[in-house]
Amino acid sequence: MYQMKLWMLAAILIVICSVYVMQCKKKAPVKVSPTDDSSQFVTLTDVVPDAILEIRYFGTYNFVGTRIDGYLEPTALLTHQAADSLRAVSDDVMQQGYRLKIYDAYRPQQAVDHFVRWAQDVADTLMKTYFYPDLDKSVLFEQEYIYERSGHTRGSTVDLTLFDMQTEKELDMGGTFDWFGIESHPDYTDITPEQFEHRMILRRAMLRHGFKPLDTEWWHFTLRDEPFPDTYFTFPVRQMTSNTPSSAPAA
Ligand SMILES: [Zn+2]
Repeated sequence: MYQMKLWMLAAILIVICSVYVMQCKKKAPVKVSPTDDSSQFVTLTDVVPDAILEIRYFGTYNFVGTRIDGYLEPTALLTHQAADSLRAVSDDVMQQGYRLKIYDAYRPQQAVDHFVRWAQDVADTLMKTYFYPDLDKSVLFEQEYIYERSGHTRGSTVDLTLFDMQTEKELDMGGTFDWFGIESHPDYTDITPEQFEHRMILRRAMLRHGFKPLDTEWWHFTLRDEPFPDTYFTFPVRQMTSNTPSSAPAA
């Protein structure tokens, strides 16, 4: 009798273990990559040649007012999955008479660290007039304008607007890239119906091709199924060359 109980206990344990193992197998493996590994990234314009680039953090017309750490060239990098989806968005809006204009894509962690250092230096208000005239710089962390982590650092997030091929100008979105204020919220309605519709043209095209929006910035979108949801990369922004391993030391 005692032996039979033992057998039953063993059988129950085996069933529990196998159910547990089956459940574990069902879970998709979390993709974690070394943070300096750029092998899964592409130069955005290699995949989306119709895109126009205006890489604000390589230049000085940005909220800091200087070139941002980690931007070695005025180019945009993305994971190949995000770039492929953005190609579909580009083809979509081209049929409507627009091109994508890219402000930023992959952003290395050292760039985010630069933003954090800048935010802590409340005396540095060089670009206040252009990007945050109504905001006291000391509230940037509190009001979550600056974070210590950015989705951009995971490589599948892009900041962009639409360029009208007929007028040869950007579409009027009722607000500008990197403006610190509620006017940047995509659902902000104290703008003209035409400006609001422009935001929606961009938003609808991005959502149709696998991106999700952010409720505080009309220009910011992340690939819904981003391949590296937990990895914050550190390699700098410069053209990808397919035959040069990213780990090769710089010449
Ligand atoms: Zn962004």
